[in-house]
Amino acid sequence: MNLHEYQGKKILAEHGVNIQRGLVLSDVKNVLDVAKNLVDETGTKWFVVKAQIHAGGRGKGGGVKLAKSLEELKIVVTDIIGMSLITPQTSKEGKVVNKVLITEDVYYPGESEPEEFYVSILLNRKTGKNMLMYSTEGGMDIETVAEKTPELIFYEDIDPLLGILPFQARKIAFNLGLSGKAFKEMTKFITLLYKSYVSSDSSLFEINPVLKTSDDIIMAVDAKVSLDDNALFRHKNYESWRDLKEENPVEIEAREVGLNYVDLDGNVGCMVNGAGLAMATMDLIKQSGGEPANFLDVGGTADAKRVEAAFRLILKDPNVKAILVNIFGGIVRCDRVAQGIVDAYNNMGDSINIPIIVRLQGTNAEIAKEIIDKCEFEVHSAIEFQEAADKIQEVLA
Ligand code: GDP
Ligand code: MN
Repeated sequence: MNLHEYQGKKILAEHGVNIQRGLVLSDVKNVLDVAKNLVDETGTKWFVVKAQIHAGGRGKGGGVKLAKSLEELKIVVTDIIGMSLITPQTSKEGKVVNKVLITEDVYYPGESEPEEFYVSILLNRKTGKNMLMYSTEGGMDIETVAEKTPELIFYEDIDPLLGILPFQARKIAFNLGLSGKAFKEMTKFITLLYKSYVSSDSSLFEINPVLKTSDDIIMAVDAKVSLDDNALFRHKNYESWRDLKEENPVEIEAREVGLNYVDLDGNVGCMVNGAGLAMATMDLIKQSGGEPANFLDVGGTADAKRVEAAFRLILKDPNVKAILVNIFGGIVRCDRVAQGIVDAYNNMGDSINIPIIVRLQGTNAEIAKEIIDKCEFEVHSAIEFQEAADKIQEVLA
């Protein structure tokens, strides 16, 4: 589950990490009250308005703007709320902004120049440890830094049992070129950031930029956080943070019926059991000249009810020109799956108006093929992978 910047910052603040402070608004109506509260709390002179959508690169798309007066603030908030924000990380249509975070301006002038860094923590699956990634090149796309100047990105593996050790936090602050108060502040920042990441069971905490203010305070200006869905049961309080408006409606529905579904852009819907087979099936579709419209793993039970739910989900996508069912029958026997498909088809009447290719392999595959071949619907059977591929090519042609 992905969080908004303001939610990620809330976790950080709860663990004592300095953040660029702010208040959330979904309507321009209360903007003056919010601004007044923020001035009282922080003493800020200017304001930053930040679109709250689940995508980065907001600054580039016009979703982060500085306002130097209350009049300007009102105009900027009015402009940003309701806009379709297009960033390098959204689709071409962009994402509608429903909320903005109004923050204090933390790039104020002072004894030294403000400096931006990059820090993120994620799981390194190769080492089985948490990994802290950091760079002096903050504020920019880290992908670009990784491509053009990979030597400017540092990595620190953190043992999950020991946690981050003081020498590691010091090494990081040193590599970031800090000294004096800023150095100490950074070691504290890194340690508390790691604590936030671990205790929220997150899979990603990306802070870009981490800011050294002109008076040497280290703080999180941005926060991109992904919580580990498998640990959400331990954090009931975060469940209410789920922003359904940010999630794909078909994916929400799939979660409700317990199907593992990811929406994609292609024209062939697929229904598969097992994530590995789903991947292979998507490759097969591509090789047959199609593009997968989704990833859908029906899991261990492919009965009529689940098959029907899966068909309904796939058919919501108007781009789908054919459906490929690719199921390996081990404990779920192929004949039962085939009957499930026929029953689902029966129940759904005319709502299925595209060809379905069914490849069933495994226990009772022959009987299953017979069931499919005998039914009066536009369902094509296949036992071999290649057969299924040829049929897709045929129906797409
Ligand atoms: P992103 O574009 O989605 O990554 O959003 P960020 O929260 O990282 O903000 C984008 C950029 O806005 C930052 O890199 C800063 O350059 C700028 N910015 C953010 N906060 C402030 C602020 O308080 N004052 C000023 N002047 N600029 C800010
Ligand atoms: Mn950012």
